Amino acid sequence: MKKRVLLVEDEEALVALLRYNLEAEGYEVTAVMDGDEAAEVAEAMPFDIIVLDWMLPGASGIELCRRFRRTEPTRHTPILMLTARGEEEDRVRGLVTGADDYVVKPFSVPELLARMQALLRRANPAAADDTLTLGPLTLHRASRTARWQERELPLSGLEFDLLTHFMENAGRVLTRDQLLDAVWGMDAESGPRSVDVAVSRLRKALVGAGAPKDLIRTVYGSGYVLSAPAK
Ligand code: CA
Repeated sequence: MKKRVLLVEDEEALVALLRYNLEAEGYEVTAVMDGDEAAEVAEAMPFDIIVLDWMLPGASGIELCRRFRRTEPTRHTPILMLTARGEEEDRVRGLVTGADDYVVKPFSVPELLARMQALLRRANPAAADDTLTLGPLTLHRASRTARWQERELPLSGLEFDLLTHFMENAGRVLTRDQLLDAVWGMDAESGPRSVDVAVSRLRKALVGAGAPKDLIRTVYGSGYVLSAPAK
């Protein structure tokens, strides 16, 4: 069954780009360019996910977000916010008001798609596609296997979990502490150094299968980021 996405964005070129890519991924796209119209459309029929621009003519993204969270059928619909750079404070407010995730413009389409997959899975694990993709990188949860193009990556269980977390947060810098929390959990034995070791093994597996060396980048003083591979 096709996933229905409501795309609320007033930049025509971006709408065209996203519509093309989302439809190619099997989504059914309803695009709306005005905030007031978006509210009407969202209340008239259910969507699996809403991709919502921050700055819109009519009701703003944040107003819509609040409204969606208060009313049916959008109360539990995952919302991915599109924000512009330099809206740090606004971004935080957006999350507080009920957006589930955000990407900062300009973003890469494969990263947006990976984030959408992660939100859809969180919203409905049973119905979600078991595959995560980021360009030529694919990961299959049920079989716990990952591939770069056709080549299977030789990963330990931990490295697989780490890659899953990176893919769900594609394009976002993750600190060592965040990675420890998300992947290692309460294991008292591990520390930041465990993260470095696991990342280095994961990189080695990726590069060995033909992926670019900078697929997972070290961000000095912060942590690591998995970015969509350049075409
Ligand atoms: Ca806008």
